[in-house]
Amino acid sequence: MHDSSALPVRPHACPGLLRIVASRDGGICRIKLPCGQLDATAARAIALAAERHAGGVLEATNRANLQIRGVHAGAESALSRDLLAAGLGPRELAADDVRNLLVSPALGLDPGSAFDASPLARQLLDLLERTPRFHGLSPKFGIQLDAGEALAMLEHPNDIWLSAMSADAAPLFAVGLAGCPPQRATDRPALAAVTAAQVPVLVDTLLHLFLDLAGDGQTRLRHLREMLRDDLLLERLQQRLPFELQLGPAVDNWRRPAPRAFGHLGIHPQRLPDHAMIGAGFVLGRLDSTTLFGLADLAERFSGGQLRLTPWQSLILPDVAQADAAVVLGALANLGLLVDAAQPLSRLVACSGSSGCARGLADTKADALRLAERLRHAPPAGVHLCGCPRSCAAAHVAPYTLLAVADGRYDLFRRADGLAGFGHPLARNLSLEAAGDLLAAPGVSIDA
Ligand code: SF4
Repeated sequence: MHDSSALPVRPHACPGLLRIVASRDGGICRIKLPCGQLDATAARAIALAAERHAGGVLEATNRANLQIRGVHAGAESALSRDLLAAGLGPRELAADDVRNLLVSPALGLDPGSAFDASPLARQLLDLLERTPRFHGLSPKFGIQLDAGEALAMLEHPNDIWLSAMSADAAPLFAVGLAGCPPQRATDRPALAAVTAAQVPVLVDTLLHLFLDLAGDGQTRLRHLREMLRDDLLLERLQQRLPFELQLGPAVDNWRRPAPRAFGHLGIHPQRLPDHAMIGAGFVLGRLDSTTLFGLADLAERFSGGQLRLTPWQSLILPDVAQADAAVVLGALANLGLLVDAAQPLSRLVACSGSSGCARGLADTKADALRLAERLRHAPPAGVHLCGCPRSCAAAHVAPYTLLAVADGRYDLFRRADGLAGFGHPLARNLSLEAAGDLLAAPGVSIDA
């Protein structure tokens, strides 16, 4: 068993399993789940720890992890020890921060993708956890492995992204830095492509190249792009690789097919015949320990004990017999989860706001609940309520953003291609009621 007292915890604002970060409502402990996956036993251990050492409140994060909020003062070490004892820590304690590999929650399940990237994902996690030099990477440093599943988060920028260029059993992987796989003609194209077998060596080499070149304060791969033009970066990378990078028009012109909208909710077919994966969202990303215990029971009964967290602050139960699918969906709804994209709350994201965060100018969680009630007949495209410009709850720009300017008052923005920040300002200093009226107005399409 790990000895948590032996590790000097790196100072950083990001919570970790050993680094409990103080917030207005108590400490926050983030539990990084390999590929977002956990089993019923681990889920119960987390729920129990949240009750023992905190107020029982949990959050699903937008990187498919779980975090315990409201950790009691003085309980931090005991909480970390309990989680480590439940097998929820990294293989080496110093590797906790670096476990940031984002995959599709349908990894290995998607009927439209013949390549199961699960072994490759494990190889990449092994590489990150077992290479001491990589443990110093920023806790925000992220890698995305996308095998072309229809259920995919393609809006969250990652330091390195790898994306299958075809749906067959032996795809090439396009690679890019500091961004997202390109979907539109105007998006920045991939840098190069490699085979699946070459991916681990590519990532290893790229990270060493970055660490060799990075100066003080250069902690993300966007800094590497700022240091080197793409052609020079590729040249330096190629010099270190034992294989040829694939370049040319096929790579430059490749675009990632669009993922299925709201595919994280409801019943969806999977590769295993007569089985389905079933998705449900946590209201504003929050759940309590009782719900997590209930989900563990449901998983044990219907999905072989498996649960998968998603980057939409939701979860998937995989491998559910088709005959049980409707029952499981109903049980998830009974646990208070969102199972239908038409529910307004399925389209709302809110950060902790002033009730949980000292920076919050408004109680975004409570306001989001009020807004959902106001929008019940006209659910808009995604809306993000933000307590301050740091945008903790969403790693991407939502179709609409309500940015708090005072208690109960917001500026409203609409996402716009090519515009930095939250997009076009539509109106300033709105009351929640006025914002609701604008969002419900004709022209605010749910498909925007
Ligand atoms: S966006 Fe601002 S107010 Fe909201 S949780 Fe982050 S720091 Fe706090």
